[in-house]
Amino acid sequence: MKNLKDLQLNEMEALLVALGEPKFRAKQIFAWLYKGVSGFDEMTNVPAALKNKLEEAGWSTGVFVPAKVQISKLDGTRKYLFELSDGNAIESVYMKYKYGNTICISSQAGCRMGCKFCASTIGGLQRNLTPGEMAEQLLAAERDAGEPINHIVVMGTGEPFDNYENLSKFIRIINDKNGRNLGMRNITVSTCGLVPMIETFAKDFPQVNLAISLHAPNNDIRNSMMPVNKKYPMEVLIEACKKYTEETSRRITFEYTLVKDKNDSRENAFELIEKLRGVLCHVNLIPLNKVEETGLDTSERKACEAFKKILEDHGIPATIRRELGDDIDGACGQLRLGGKK
Ligand code: SAH
Repeated sequence: MKNLKDLQLNEMEALLVALGEPKFRAKQIFAWLYKGVSGFDEMTNVPAALKNKLEEAGWSTGVFVPAKVQISKLDGTRKYLFELSDGNAIESVYMKYKYGNTICISSQAGCRMGCKFCASTIGGLQRNLTPGEMAEQLLAAERDAGEPINHIVVMGTGEPFDNYENLSKFIRIINDKNGRNLGMRNITVSTCGLVPMIETFAKDFPQVNLAISLHAPNNDIRNSMMPVNKKYPMEVLIEACKKYTEETSRRITFEYTLVKDKNDSRENAFELIEKLRGVLCHVNLIPLNKVEETGLDTSERKACEAFKKILEDHGIPATIRRELGDDIDGACGQLRLGGKK
């Protein structure tokens, strides 16, 4: 089946004209899709003959029905398992924050970046998600939770910059005022550091928030945690980040997962300060979440607090991320292809 949610409005208009229909029908259908209807039936102002024609031509509304929903007893976080039409399965997480409801979406089924501490990369990359499959994670969660979601973080399974074309189409679709109209500033994309795409992203989406998974203060440690660092070493990455902040005047969030005896010492904190000098940024410290297969341990609370204090004392704003959904393996780095068996 072809997915109508993979189409931008102008593409949908072209499709309808090609089917011999008036162009304005595209706007109606587009609006319904991003209102979150669960099928053609709910599109009350669209003629039945047109719905039939679309279905006969192989077009679907791309609606997901969750195969599994886990609700955290700790904080009400919901983790969804969605089965895709080709049998792959992906996870998304719905979180309630003071500033609004947020969905953490996956950008790929699996991941090929190979970070040593992350569950998403176990099993490798199956395939890229389409723009419609990214958007539908938000819509399906809204239908299930019964509340509007106003923030998207592309921090689920997959490396969004390894699927740049679909990612950018997804952002344009979800931002379209004729549909979901979600503000660019309400979207955050996180990358492990595919440097060439950072430059492209700054030009294409200067309003979308950028997060960089840094996790280390030097190349030795970063190489041992993240294979991507061998291709784009830290000095190249940091240079790209400086350029990004100069061009966009936007603050970058650096994510730094604290792993016991690996990257969480006082020396590591001081080295990080040197590396981040002159970059408009904020550091988000994430005490490592347990992923059984990795054999790595989380930093002690004391070490996390000390690390944070050193950064702050040197003028780098830092927060320790409050982990949501820990009891349902819904925290950073715990999402995986097909869910946990
Ligand atoms: N591939 C992108 C998007 C994933 S975002 C990226 O790397 O940024 C998920 C975030 O959780 C990343 O910062 C990732 O490095 C971090 N993460 C992965 N495994 C983790 C774990 N076990 N504990 C805490 N954070 C983890």
